[in-house]
Amino acid sequence: MQPIGEHAVVLGASMAGLAAARVLADTYEQVTVLERDALPAAAVHRKGVPQSRHAHGLLAGGRVALEELFPGLTDELVAHGALSGDLQAQTRWHNQGLRLCPGPSDLQGIAVSRPLLEGCARERVRALPNVQVVDRCDAAGLVPASDGRRVCGVRVLRRADGSAEEVLEADLVVDATGRGSRSPVWLEELGYPRPVEDEVRIGVAYASRVYRRDPDHLGGDRAVVVAGTLDRPRGGAMLAMEGDRWMVTLNGYLGQRPPADPDGFLTFAAGLPAPDIFEVLSDAEPLGDVLPARYPASVRRRYERLGWFPDGYLVTGDAVCAFNPVYGQGMSVAALEALALRECLRASPTGLARRFFAKAAGIVDIPWGIAVGADLRFPGIQGPRTAKVRLVNAYLARFHVAAATDPVLGRAFLRVVNLMDRPEGLLRPTIARRVLRGNLWRAATRPRRPRPTSRAQQKEAA
Ligand SMILES: Cc1cc2nc3c(=O)[nH]c(=O)nc-3n(C[C@H](O)[C@H](O)[C@H](O)COP(=O)(O)OP(=O)(O)OC[C@H]3O[C@@H](n4cnc5c(N)ncnc54)[C@H](O)[C@@H]3O)c2cc1C
Repeated sequence: MQPIGEHAVVLGASMAGLAAARVLADTYEQVTVLERDALPAAAVHRKGVPQSRHAHGLLAGGRVALEELFPGLTDELVAHGALSGDLQAQTRWHNQGLRLCPGPSDLQGIAVSRPLLEGCARERVRALPNVQVVDRCDAAGLVPASDGRRVCGVRVLRRADGSAEEVLEADLVVDATGRGSRSPVWLEELGYPRPVEDEVRIGVAYASRVYRRDPDHLGGDRAVVVAGTLDRPRGGAMLAMEGDRWMVTLNGYLGQRPPADPDGFLTFAAGLPAPDIFEVLSDAEPLGDVLPARYPASVRRRYERLGWFPDGYLVTGDAVCAFNPVYGQGMSVAALEALALRECLRASPTGLARRFFAKAAGIVDIPWGIAVGADLRFPGIQGPRTAKVRLVNAYLARFHVAAATDPVLGRAFLRVVNLMDRPEGLLRPTIARRVLRGNLWRAATRPRRPRPTSRAQQKEAA
């Protein structure tokens, strides 16, 4: 493809920044990725991505998108020790305390640590001949063109003794600096409005610990995901990783907080709505300390609603929407947004921001709806509990009852939460009929309590 500009600059070299850089390399002569951290050569944790020490699942939709951006990435990760597996047959999903019926699906998962995934993507980007990754360099603000209608560069400060602020000129600047993005402030400094923020306060507390994984654990299954229930608002994810390890992250809503001491961590696991994680942890070898953290709110910045936005500037990834991590959506959305950016760039360079933000909003709508809708099951969480949200949650409560014994429903559900299908698919008549049938069957086969016969028994039952 003919280049549409000379220089694009990406701020942030995490998953969203790397995915964007991959796409921009096809349409700009030169791409520079700026990252404030010192980037490690190997796949290890780094300061700017503290979340890498907690469970990081890649949804099937995200894996497919990353594979499109970096062909062969799944095989490369497997060659480094990651485990590939069927997301329905080899992962145990528990909703409402019921295990989703296992069965073969066409959903391929990859069990990999976050540092290895990011490290491999980073090496792919570094290997592109027209991309330069500059680490230990802070983006400090935007440089406006003289007419104030476009961004024509970025102010940067290198993390080196005696360095002073420099200007890096660019035809396009992409902010991928994550949840703490300064874009709202930078835009205001240039005289543009800030985006409206939708915020849902979830007050999630979580804690993580790595354990040695025995290949026989869970009969060889790759992962367990336990969602909190109304009476027990605590959940957890236990994900296999390269190096025969499990990453275990426990979470709690509404004041439920997994303790950071080893005994408390184990006791908290014992109180999850499903026993699988506790059963493994009770005799697995821990490989480090318990690391606690908090996630106060899901935040969505509505850039697509701004009527006035400078040319030459975009925002992507967590800087646009930071989801409740319990649903494991962020990396997948970042990859899908990069594909949307590629589509926009291929169509035309003009009106890029308006077209990209509209497409990104369409991508974010679905996972945001899934995450916020599921969080609003908990009466203690404040948010827009619309009639649609209440209806969908009531339907899903029945759906999970039927999906515990019906693998077709299990697959339909997983395709939606893995961003492969739209949620409306769960309401199709063929699916709704199976939900009804499953609930009728369960009601008919549920063991009943014997009816009290004697007067004393009747009194006790009353
Ligand atoms: C606890 C937790 C668990 C999660 N679990 C999952 C999961 O299971 N699955 C999933 O898909 N997602 C998960 N996520 C979300 C996922 O981590 C992010 O969505 C993903 O990393 C993409 O984010 P990003 O690249 O937009 O931003 P980030 O990952 O936050 O990266 C921002 C980058 O920008 C750099 N930076 C920041 N400011 C500047 C600056 N001024 N100048 C230069 N560089 C700068 C930072 O150092 C960093 O490298 C989780 C998040 C959390 C907090």
